[in-house]
Amino acid sequence: MKILGAFGSKTKNSQLSAYLLDEKTVIDAGNLIQSLGRDFLKLDNILITHAHFDHIADLPTAIDTFYSKLEKPVNVFATQEVIDILKENIFNNKVWPDFSKIPLSNNNGNTIVFHALEFFKDYTIGNFRIKPYPNFHTFGSCGYVINDAMVFTSDTFLCYHTWDFLNNNKNLKQLIIEVSFPSSFNRLAVLSKHLTPLLLKDELKALQRDDIKIYINHMKYEYRDAIINELKEIDLYDRVTILNDDSEIEIG
Ligand SMILES: [Zn+2]
Ligand SMILES: [Zn+2]
Repeated sequence: MKILGAFGSKTKNSQLSAYLLDEKTVIDAGNLIQSLGRDFLKLDNILITHAHFDHIADLPTAIDTFYSKLEKPVNVFATQEVIDILKENIFNNKVWPDFSKIPLSNNNGNTIVFHALEFFKDYTIGNFRIKPYPNFHTFGSCGYVINDAMVFTSDTFLCYHTWDFLNNNKNLKQLIIEVSFPSSFNRLAVLSKHLTPLLLKDELKALQRDDIKIYINHMKYEYRDAIINELKEIDLYDRVTILNDDSEIEIG
């Protein structure tokens, strides 16, 4: 996995959520154009965890930017709820054209093909086995279990299913989980359904294993130093690895 964007805010120094599994498949579309350039044309599959802007920002623009060179449809996978949100609010011919009804320039099908995912079902997408599951962030939002090895929570807030998977399946060895705000922003975190270091520490009480490699993502970049200092203060820093743009992880 190559992290194209590890953060929950876009700044001069931080990019929005995008996690390249291999050249054909990516999770979230926060940073695809600047990071991939023309390699965007190699992508077959874009898995969207939810419709928040930091996870979809480059989806409409990349389709437009590369339209004339696209030779095959871009498959967009998400829950039906999230697909409906994207169709109603982005690809609605008002904010942006409905590329699911616009043929490719070579007439090889329509430009975007949406695929609805159901929670807890196993899918083969590109070269990966993917199981979507509900997190507690927004309507229809999901995390993914990847290759029966890694749990990717996306923006999650509370984590019930995440801990169930990890406690009950010893094949799972890796966890990517968000920490978005420092604990001093607890009210904002709870209202916007995000984790802080203290909320994560509380959640981790439900994890009954100590052999999980834990990666932290989705920090709001302006609070990065504060979050890291706090993780140190509450003795979590040594237990986790902070992800940055361009980090790489071997899945499995
Ligand atoms: Zn987000
Ligand atoms: Zn979100």
